Amino acid sequence: MRLSKLSFGVFISNLLFIFAVNAADKNTVPNTNKESVFDMHMHYKWSQKEVTSPKQAVQYLSKHNISHAVVIGKPAENALLIKKLAPEKVIAIFSPYRDSQDWYRWQRNEQVLIDARKALASGEYQGVGELHIIGGGFARKLESATVLNGLMKMVHEFDVPIIEFSQPDYMLAICERYPKSKIIWAHAGAVLKPDQIDQVMSKCRNVWSGMAARDPWRYVGNQHTDEAGKLLPEWKALMIKYADRFVVGSDTVWPVDQLDGWSEPDTGWEQLGRFWGFHRAWLAQLPEDVAQKIKYDNAMKLFKMNL
Ligand SMILES: [Zn+2]
Repeated sequence: MRLSKLSFGVFISNLLFIFAVNAADKNTVPNTNKESVFDMHMHYKWSQKEVTSPKQAVQYLSKHNISHAVVIGKPAENALLIKKLAPEKVIAIFSPYRDSQDWYRWQRNEQVLIDARKALASGEYQGVGELHIIGGGFARKLESATVLNGLMKMVHEFDVPIIEFSQPDYMLAICERYPKSKIIWAHAGAVLKPDQIDQVMSKCRNVWSGMAARDPWRYVGNQHTDEAGKLLPEWKALMIKYADRFVVGSDTVWPVDQLDGWSEPDTGWEQLGRFWGFHRAWLAQLPEDVAQKIKYDNAMKLFKMNL
């Protein structure tokens, strides 16, 4: 059940969205559950800042009852602009991506290690990511991946999570090599099926699976719900099995077919209600205690916040 390099090569865009077509009208799920949630995966890129000010971003969080938000800035300090306005809500993650090319260049840039250490030591950032570690010639062999290995040790040293996107074989190599480093597996590996995710999670207790962007508009080819929004049984079983290690995020990127279009503003924050409307609907189909962990408690523990 290994994912081929070819199929993974589809995902070389910044946020790795697949088959995103006719998205705006499809599968709109009403937001029926207004309980507060912890959003584990938000971006605040400069192309988003053009249309959503830091103040508006904080207003969106309140409007959609998002009590806590992990924000990945591009450049990294963008996240601090929002954090400054709502320090009790916002957790800033250090991202080494500064432009539209860094997602594949970061592994060869040793300056990343210097910048990440400075960022974590400042106390302003509580994690590192989102990092793309993908095949097709971009992923360095783990033995020679100086930057990745350095970051894995660094997040353990600072005891903060790292958000990584990677195919299962590479993810397994990383999580087994660094069992004390907490890894949030972005998009739960994206194209993977539950049994493939299970393979990694059963071997590595230091891996949390993130369901960010896994919604009907961005994962048309590999959803965890059916067309009516019903959680598929194999996904439900997986989430119950690993109830302590699933987290959810919105991944504020829009429109879906834009990928990383630097010429157009990104209106992802305006879509928060849509994203969380979908997530809240499938979360409500899980046993209550499991849903509570996945939408809130697990993230609170990961970031050492008081429950
Ligand atoms: Zn993302």
